[in-house]
Amino acid sequence: MGSVVLSLDAELGWGFHDLRNPPTRRVEAGRRGWSTMLELLEEYRIPATWAVVGHLMLESCDGRHADHPAPDGWFERERTDWQDREDVRFGPDLVRDLLGSDVDHEFASHSFSHVLFGRPETDRELAAAELERSLEIAADWNQCVESFIYPRNSVGHRDVLAEQGLRAYRSKSPTGHGIRCIFDLTVRNKSLLVTPTIDEHGLVDIPASLFLFGFEGSARTVAESVWDDPMVALARHGIDQATERDGIFHMWLHPNNLTHERDDRRMRAILSYLAQRRAETDLTVETMADVVHRVTGTTAEAGVKPTVSRR
Ligand SMILES: [Zn+2]
Ligand SMILES: [Zn+2]
Repeated sequence: MGSVVLSLDAELGWGFHDLRNPPTRRVEAGRRGWSTMLELLEEYRIPATWAVVGHLMLESCDGRHADHPAPDGWFERERTDWQDREDVRFGPDLVRDLLGSDVDHEFASHSFSHVLFGRPETDRELAAAELERSLEIAADWNQCVESFIYPRNSVGHRDVLAEQGLRAYRSKSPTGHGIRCIFDLTVRNKSLLVTPTIDEHGLVDIPASLFLFGFEGSARTVAESVWDDPMVALARHGIDQATERDGIFHMWLHPNNLTHERDDRRMRAILSYLAQRRAETDLTVETMADVVHRVTGTTAEAGVKPTVSRR
């Protein structure tokens, strides 16, 4: 019997601040999507790993962050287009909603300002500062952080994660996204389940199985007219696989992917199916931290004691 993990990259405007033309719909959907996901997860009693951009937990800032070793201009949008957009730069209200939820969600980190760790120009100093700052803010909020989700899944500086006491991260899905994923599953009958491993730094790597919004635009419209919502079908397939054998079905999304009501319907269909299968079988829903504790045989405070094979 396997388990299901759901992780969310919670970032409001920070997922796009470095882009020349931030996608308006996604930027504007961040707050609504956050609240909708919290409500749905409460309704179906599903705990998830919420990786939050640290800057969102500030009440205000000077838009410069002169003590932060980011490249020049990194925070420029805070001083220009988004100068009056506190709603996309800050979200302590939303983080309070998350921490106050009846469901036992895991609070995780998505860096301080969404720096891409895998980029060659992101040096060790910047990676360390991004982590340090987000962990400091988390500590101000009485949160201890075990899991890290890399901005844009750009994996890098894993040794720095380990040094700062992080214990897990999400790596890229071994299967493709969208149409490619459907092809893999139907033609090659591939498994959507992943297996956590412990890397050379003692960190637990929990790969993604499926990005729930990897199938968008006109391809989605065409596919929906033929198959209803193909992503719901894929997610159900992954959930079913986790009821049949060992392994993790790891779904992920950004709250700001919920840009239309049909996206809310997608999430409701997936979460209600998950709750139903959990009730009918021994299937469990885990957070990334639960996975860490299970595979290392430790708790939040204890050190890593590996019981699965090292890569
Ligand atoms: Zn700022
Ligand atoms: Zn992100």
